[in-house]
Amino acid sequence: MKKKLIYILIFGFCVAVISFAAVFLMHKHISDHPVSNKNSGDNTVSIGNIPPIPVTVQDMTKGAEKPSTNISKGFTPNGVPVLMYHRVGDLPENADATTTDLTVSTANFEEQMTFLDKQGYVSITPDQLYGWLSKGQEIPKKSVIITFDDGYQDVFDNAVPILLEHHFVGVFGIITGFVGTRDYASWQTIGAAKAKGMIIVSHSFSHFDFSKHNYTDQEYSIAKSTMDINDNLGFTPTYFIYPYGTYNTDTENILTAHGYVMALTTAYGFAQKGENLLEIPRIRVHGKEVLPRFEYDVAGIPLPVDQTAENKNPDLLQMPTTATKGE
Ligand SMILES: [Zn+2]
Repeated sequence: MKKKLIYILIFGFCVAVISFAAVFLMHKHISDHPVSNKNSGDNTVSIGNIPPIPVTVQDMTKGAEKPSTNISKGFTPNGVPVLMYHRVGDLPENADATTTDLTVSTANFEEQMTFLDKQGYVSITPDQLYGWLSKGQEIPKKSVIITFDDGYQDVFDNAVPILLEHHFVGVFGIITGFVGTRDYASWQTIGAAKAKGMIIVSHSFSHFDFSKHNYTDQEYSIAKSTMDINDNLGFTPTYFIYPYGTYNTDTENILTAHGYVMALTTAYGFAQKGENLLEIPRIRVHGKEVLPRFEYDVAGIPLPVDQTAENKNPDLLQMPTTATKGE
């Protein structure tokens, strides 16, 4: 009887020890391998046995003054943002995804220009950018270039008055073969804007994909647009915007032969010294884009890091995958 009691006590003790050890080990495992340590505030995330990885997504609540170099993927926002707009105004009914992405409402444009103005940005001309990039001429510390592709009537109606109100200058890429047709401004409208200080540059005659056309066709489109601008506005353009942002070595050679010294693409980035003057990148401003997304654009923080509630607009993340008319 006494022996039996001893066995029971020993058995009970063993069960207690094993249970305690099991609970202790489980607890220790959880402590060593947290599912997430997002509350620790050390900017790392670890999952299971995967080593901690640095958090590279910008905290969208802390403003845009310190863009993360991880997000910027190697480019330092140490140059000039060249903003790219297409249309400014109300969206037509049943607008497709491309038109929606290309159209900034007048209210949003006003908000964006007011932001630039309050932040002390100065809109510079292509001459100033070219002087800075190629001759080391000085430009204001907070310089920005505001470009409009295609020459739509709505930008002359809606954007130009806002630009003038803020003492900004706009740069308008004109498709000379489209002038005065459908939604495109007339030479009279374009000339009137130029007289108020707006800058006119060539966006070709025919607005085709230059990378897919032969030398002769490319040269005709560039030479004809140069002649049209000369005939209608009285000067020879020296700056060019590539339709769809596409080009090849022929395009660059033709531009140089026809006196063009600088050309803008649709590639993402800031205009920086040391880069090819015929391949100046830009920052696209998307339709429905509001602050603070626009602030991040100007600061050099690209999409898609949109985490804020006001910018959770799926349209902003739908980049057109193919070039379409109107780019
Ligand atoms: Zn275009």
